[in-house]
Amino acid sequence: MIHLQDKALFRQRAFLNGDWVEASDGAVIAVHDPATGEEIGTVPDLGVAETKAAIAAAEIAQKNWAARTAGERAAVLRHWYDLMMAHREDLALILTREMGKPLAEALGEVTYGAGFIQWFAEEARRVYGETIPGHQPDKRLMVIKQPVGVVAAITPWNFPNAMITRKVAPALAAGCAVVLKPASETPFSALAMAELAVRAGLPKGLLNIVTGRDAAAIGGEMCANPTVRKLTFTGSTGVGKILMRQCADTVKKLSLELGGNAPFIVFDDADLDAAVEGAMIAKFRNNGQTCVCANRIYVQDGVYDAFAEKLTRAVSGIKVGNGVQDGVTTGPLIDARAVVKVSAHISDATSKGARVLTGGARHELGGSFFQPTVLGDVTREMAIAREETFGPVAPLFRFNTVDDVIAQANDTEFGLASYFYARDLSRVWQVAEALEYGMVGVNTGLISTEVAPFGGIKQSGLGREGARQGVEDYLEMKSICLGGI
Ligand code: ADP
Repeated sequence: MIHLQDKALFRQRAFLNGDWVEASDGAVIAVHDPATGEEIGTVPDLGVAETKAAIAAAEIAQKNWAARTAGERAAVLRHWYDLMMAHREDLALILTREMGKPLAEALGEVTYGAGFIQWFAEEARRVYGETIPGHQPDKRLMVIKQPVGVVAAITPWNFPNAMITRKVAPALAAGCAVVLKPASETPFSALAMAELAVRAGLPKGLLNIVTGRDAAAIGGEMCANPTVRKLTFTGSTGVGKILMRQCADTVKKLSLELGGNAPFIVFDDADLDAAVEGAMIAKFRNNGQTCVCANRIYVQDGVYDAFAEKLTRAVSGIKVGNGVQDGVTTGPLIDARAVVKVSAHISDATSKGARVLTGGARHELGGSFFQPTVLGDVTREMAIAREETFGPVAPLFRFNTVDDVIAQANDTEFGLASYFYARDLSRVWQVAEALEYGMVGVNTGLISTEVAPFGGIKQSGLGREGARQGVEDYLEMKSICLGGI
């Protein structure tokens, strides 16, 4: 149980075509609080049949929704945003209980997540077309934008709120309908948002939430069903590739936000205190469980020791605990599997010569709690240099020249976020251009906002979320050639 001010926000049923439903055989999935292991509730274990039904309902609802004016769609979204903000404390508590991040961070995510709804409510009315000078005297050319239709969305557990709004809000703004499968670890945030969408006046069938354990079956139907015209996914690169292959048969539009392996570079002219502050955010926010988390920290030789000492001091001050308790700044990892991966990266690095500067082991609180860790003398031969750790481990690499660090930073199949600290203006510009990443943070460790395009290059994905560009992924372009004038 979660004790909310508004109890109706805690929904333990899936949401299909405007109805709160159970599985026909009554099957459920239990959801656990990662801080305590306690079962906080259950959701229906649905599968292919319910996914098909949701898609069919979405197809019908989408036609009417697309026929409304953009202003009418914007008004519903704006109302939804207002309700999210009015209920932000309850939404944050649900989020902390199912995912583990501290309440203050959960509140931040709810505000960030709601920001996408506000932004796309505004953008809904700015889906502009184009006119083109005619190519023949009796012809006129124009381009209009239309919704792609039914959208399927699959989201991960690390941002149970914001990963949903950044897909659903632009889709609805554009005039699409959505069938969403949230991560089975964190379905309650999605269901609470659906409850608020109903209160905001969103017509039935436009937002469907299919909960279920068998992600491959639900995802398989989403990919195979010809009614679904677009799939949007945030999650691991491996699953993203499977979905991309599966979507080939029906040639769906795709947006993929996949893994990262973000470099965080500290040059010798950097403001070191600011760089430490940025590294704390870029590495330890969400306990290291974000796809834009700094995964490799490169420090120039002249400032390496000073930076290592300052960072180690800051990391030693992190307060680990249950996210609902006051003063806790870092919660547990999502599950035991995450602990195994973090431990494996640390033991691989130390076996090859890395030094533990602080942390390095499971936390005394037990469960999936882990000590915030700094590793020194990390080299490119270690697994942590190539794989996303998704946990609270800051590995420090030493470098000498700009060319060397750029080559190392770009030596990965990923290309999502990157960060660096420097003050020399020409170096700032050169490095920002040389980093092969979709996003670059210069002298900041926090780059995510609903007003800037978020997304990666290389194997980190396709498309952009947020910003003016975020709605384009949910629109088709149609050129109209008008003759006989
Ligand atoms: P993570 O390691 O963050 O859990 P995943 O890529 O495994 O990353 O999960 C992200 C989302 O993708 C979750 O909602 C999960 O249920 C879903 N998922 C996992 N495997 C598949 C699959 N084969 N087809 C469709 N969705 C999947």
